[in-house]
Amino acid sequence: MTDIDQYLRLHGERFEAELCDLLRIASVSAQPECRAEILRAADWLDARFRRLGFRSEIVATEGCPLVVAESPHVEGAPTALVYGHYDVQPADPLDRWTSPPFEPTRRGGNLYARGATDDKGQMLTHLLSAEAWVECRGALPLNLKYVIEGEEEVGSRSLETYLAGQADRLATDCIVISDGAQFAPGIPAICYGLRGIAYYELRVAGPNRDLHSGSFGGSVTNPAGALAKVLAGMTDNQGRVTIPGFYDDVAPLSDQERRLLAELPFDETEYLLQLGVTGTWGEEGYTLLERRWARPAYDVCGLWSGYQGEGAKTILPATAHAKFSFRLVPNQDPHKITQGIKWLLTELCPPGIELELVDLHGSPGLLVSLESPYVDAAARAIEQAFGRRPVLTREGGSIPIVATLHETLRADVLLLGWGQNDDNTPAPDEKLSLADFHRGIRASARLWQELAHVP
Ligand SMILES: [Zn+2]
Repeated sequence: MTDIDQYLRLHGERFEAELCDLLRIASVSAQPECRAEILRAADWLDARFRRLGFRSEIVATEGCPLVVAESPHVEGAPTALVYGHYDVQPADPLDRWTSPPFEPTRRGGNLYARGATDDKGQMLTHLLSAEAWVECRGALPLNLKYVIEGEEEVGSRSLETYLAGQADRLATDCIVISDGAQFAPGIPAICYGLRGIAYYELRVAGPNRDLHSGSFGGSVTNPAGALAKVLAGMTDNQGRVTIPGFYDDVAPLSDQERRLLAELPFDETEYLLQLGVTGTWGEEGYTLLERRWARPAYDVCGLWSGYQGEGAKTILPATAHAKFSFRLVPNQDPHKITQGIKWLLTELCPPGIELELVDLHGSPGLLVSLESPYVDAAARAIEQAFGRRPVLTREGGSIPIVATLHETLRADVLLLGWGQNDDNTPAPDEKLSLADFHRGIRASARLWQELAHVP
């Protein structure tokens, strides 16, 4: 790999300049007025893939276009599919940025711009590493496919539709995604699990109008009180969800996983301090990291009812509302969870009250086997580029499109984040460490080599 390393060193500055070009394009998918910039970003990528000698296509969709590219075919070699996104979050509030969000600026070894880490900088590492192979060796050691979308920040709807018909064309041995963070500075990570989600709104209706609590209190069920009881009834005192069958399909933590999680340099006191809380809470029998990443969780996300103004108003409100979610783990099925909640609601519903459950969205979790040869290949590539073996982590959040890619293409997913947890992804002053950018390109170049040798 000396030739490739040398090439990457020699062209490092130009790589940064190319990233800056892409970052100057304000491709905010949530803002319709950015439509021209969205198209410009897709064009930029399409042209960049073509310059590499790859077949590339801009796929028009009902929303933002996809860029789908493919390296020249290498007979008998395995295939990896890179997923990334060229759209970015809105840059507001603009006055909180130290330098303008779409004028990439270097400060203290970091590059500041909207999209620097999420995901333009990280996504580009997998294109630039391919360039090094093509220029130094004339060809890649494996087949690469790229699907770069423009709607990740607004729900990936167009990609979901596209994927349904493209399983054959996109067939791959593994899926590579860099759109996240390392465990900590200097501690690279491979994330092998994501939680899923099931999100609901609950509407509680009682009397046909707000009632005076003096005249009517004590005679009919109070919807706000009923809502509180129902929500509280969904967990027991041990932090376990009470929905029947809720844990039936939960993939248990293996001893190996529990050991790996326990070995991570995680400081619980520091964590509490960061969050400004005095204690932890969750399902009994599991450590904090296990509960955050590998066990399901129930959370009330919002609730409202009755009088909320200044002072006192003596009412018994007619309605009450809540939004709540379950973070799911493999192999829980959101549809089955919905059925379970409906059953529990009929059990918990007090007299004189009507409950309406609205299913807002759901997606399953994801788990890649630690025995996967692709995980092993990625660990070797990262170790060579970062100078230390990556830790294996899971993630408590959900990326629905990743679960869909995994399900549609039936391939292992490698979540290799090159960023840091303090990169300010949705906030002002988003940044990417330039050292991480270059390490990411080096790791990616080695990943192609390692994946090519997976039997
Ligand atoms: Zn992202």
